[in-house]
Amino acid sequence: MVDFSQQRAALVKQLITEGIVKSDKVKNALMRVPREEFIPSNYREWAYVDSPLPIGHGQTISAPHMVALMTELLDPEPGDIVLEVGTGSGYQAAVLAEIVAKNAPLKKGRVYTIERIPELAEFARENLRRTKYIDYVIVVVGDGTKGYLDAAPYDKIIVTAAAPSIPQPLIEQLKPGGRIVIPVGDMYYQRLLVVSKRIDGSLNIHKDTWCVFVPLIGEYGWRVQY
Ligand code: SAM
Repeated sequence: MVDFSQQRAALVKQLITEGIVKSDKVKNALMRVPREEFIPSNYREWAYVDSPLPIGHGQTISAPHMVALMTELLDPEPGDIVLEVGTGSGYQAAVLAEIVAKNAPLKKGRVYTIERIPELAEFARENLRRTKYIDYVIVVVGDGTKGYLDAAPYDKIIVTAAAPSIPQPLIEQLKPGGRIVIPVGDMYYQRLLVVSKRIDGSLNIHKDTWCVFVPLIGEYGWRVQY
């Protein structure tokens, strides 16, 4: 029998040593969300290897260090309304839900997450149901490059697929004072951007690390599958 909780603790310790996990809130969220529950059974034994893994339909669950880094950069707060573009397995959404909602019962935090592949949205829903995050996460099928107007505006927006540029609807659906974390670049290599919207609506863009994501496909993303 694999002891996943021991492996999870070892990986989180490693991410702290590497300086990727910095805050208690991200550390606690990574410790609480069982990544093995978001991975197809044939890859489950590798749940705590720090690597992306296939989830079907040519897509991946991001590597733990990337989830940790993006969550630190996003800086979600209890009570935040968050939009994630690129649900995939639902794991990143669960990590966010830990911080904004599950551990903040008196605040009305929520995670809206949008996925373009219906089968993956259903896979994520099942994973979130089994792990009891479904009460805090709303999974929507659609083109997330257009955002999700029904629940806008958002305190934070995270995009977990590679965009050619920052989709304008996401900027419009972000609250003043809010933040977007998004990989932007070409189809092979991107830069993680932290986009802060000032109170007057102007943007400050910080370029963080280089990264590699699957493409963001949609009206304000890449227009064709390649
Ligand atoms: N955050 C996910 C997780 O925790 O498993 C990993 C996301 S995976 C790297 C990127 C996902 O973005 C894929 O599932 C892909 O289908 C999805 N995607 C690509 N373009 C999209 C779009 N325009 N709207 C919504 N989802 C999109």
